[in-house]
Amino acid sequence: MKIKSTEFVISAVGPSQYPEGDLPEVALAGRSNVGKSSLINKMLLRRNLARTSQQPGKTQTLNYYMIHAELGELFFVDFPGYGYARVSKSEREAWGKMIERYLREREPLKLVLQLVDVRHPPSADDVRMYEWLSHYGIPMIVVATKADKVSRSQWPKHLKVIRQTLGMPGHVPLVLFSSETGQGRDELWSLIAQAAGL
Ligand code: GDP
Repeated sequence: MKIKSTEFVISAVGPSQYPEGDLPEVALAGRSNVGKSSLINKMLLRRNLARTSQQPGKTQTLNYYMIHAELGELFFVDFPGYGYARVSKSEREAWGKMIERYLREREPLKLVLQLVDVRHPPSADDVRMYEWLSHYGIPMIVVATKADKVSRSQWPKHLKVIRQTLGMPGHVPLVLFSSETGQGRDELWSLIAQAAGL
């Protein structure tokens, strides 16, 4: 995918701030530190658009990035990272409500990428998130991040654990990704383009 330009649009706290129009949206979910900002930057070939290592648990907003690509335009919608222990119960609830409403009502949402760290079996939070997302019937891709941190010979074993722990049916794509090497970038773009109808 050739990217012409990208820009940060808004940190939205609710539906009134979501962009108008009907450009396709691709949402990104994952626990804090899974490599979500790094993936966004790598996908968009921007060094520092999504700030890496934002203060965990402090971003209770949906961050919209607009992408002008060769084949069309779309938004990446970055969910706040989850699974951060020092977040209060009320913050967690607010997070849940915002995400739930978005997933339930947001017409332009075409695809959710759920990121998990390839090195470890998905956490209980990852499993809950996966089940929750699946429940909405929105097309999903699971992305196993930090592929460069596991030796090539071990990849199949790790992918199998991820598939089994999340209970992913065979038709849900599982993409190995590295923001260090760019592995998985082309594959992910082609799946995104397909889902977004570009
Ligand atoms: P976020 O909290 O999910 O946005 O995670 P970040 O993108 O900030 O990444 C968390 C840490 O993991 C940072 O130190 C990144 O440099 C590192 N990281 C992210 N992706 C990769 C990757 O593909 N390979 C390696 N080796 N490190 C990564």
